[in-house]
Amino acid sequence: LLQPKLRLADGHTMPQLGFGVYKLANQATMNTAIAAANRSGYHLFDTAQAYGNEAILGTAFKELAIPRTELFITTKVAEVNQGYDNTLRSVERSLKLLQTDYLDLLLVHWPIHSQFFETWRAFERLKAEKIVRSIGVSNYHQTHLDYLATRANEQPVVNQIENHPYLSQEPLLAYDRKQQIVSQAWSPLGRGVVLQDPVLAKIASQHQRSVAQIILRWHIQRGLAIIPKSQNPQRISENAAIFDFKLDADEMTAIARLNRRQRTGADPEVVYEIE
Ligand code: NAD
Repeated sequence: LLQPKLRLADGHTMPQLGFGVYKLANQATMNTAIAAANRSGYHLFDTAQAYGNEAILGTAFKELAIPRTELFITTKVAEVNQGYDNTLRSVERSLKLLQTDYLDLLLVHWPIHSQFFETWRAFERLKAEKIVRSIGVSNYHQTHLDYLATRANEQPVVNQIENHPYLSQEPLLAYDRKQQIVSQAWSPLGRGVVLQDPVLAKIASQHQRSVAQIILRWHIQRGLAIIPKSQNPQRISENAAIFDFKLDADEMTAIARLNRRQRTGADPEVVYEIE
């Protein structure tokens, strides 16, 4: 099945569905997961310097002989690597670990107030040098985006944020849209917490689909990019089988009503500072 792509403001395209590799920590587990994802039609793989698994991800791509042109690789600059020189050095290291000479998408992992403009200047340089095709941010709120909007030469084309039925963040999504930024949902399944919800269970049984598929389909119909994670080949394939059914307007509304501003991760309003 052909996977949909989203057009980014810089002219590149990005698969709407991707695979997150957070916590995949050894080579055998990584290989099994990436092989399953590759078979199921995922092209986008989302890692981060902070996950400590760029090397095993790079090795998995090589061992499975997946052509680079079929891959869309995202990594993120860790908090400890922010700043102009640190960013450049750390991206060089990420490229080595991932065994590639370019990245499809590079994200600032978290907005560290004292550092993020210098980090962003390094991102602009990496893009100009074509080491990175697209540049974006993660966990940015409107205030952080506004800062870049008024000062930066290049604008982020992706904002990767926590998003699931218990944290739908509609105002931030609207702001991203206004700025021509694609919103990409991390923890799209709420790390499992949302899967027990009775409203979702009812919709799932009506469609004879799993709750995970209903949630992922809801994201797709809202135009978000998603990067669900699983180690289980059957679930990896299930999470990609979401392009052959539709939720109706009432179902979309019922899911939207589940929002309770419940985070699984940290709140970006907390100012991150390096010690
Ligand atoms: P997720 O919402 O994708 O949930 C993953 C968990 O849900 C799995 O561990 C599994 O237990 C369960 N699951 C997955 N598929 C299932 C299915 N079909 N049926 C039942 N249970 C299922 O949460 P996540 O791993 O936190 O997020 C996904 C990715 O987002 C990460 O791997 C990472 O790449 C990215 N991420 C980014 C940030 C950031 O700050 N930018 C933060 C967290 C995660």
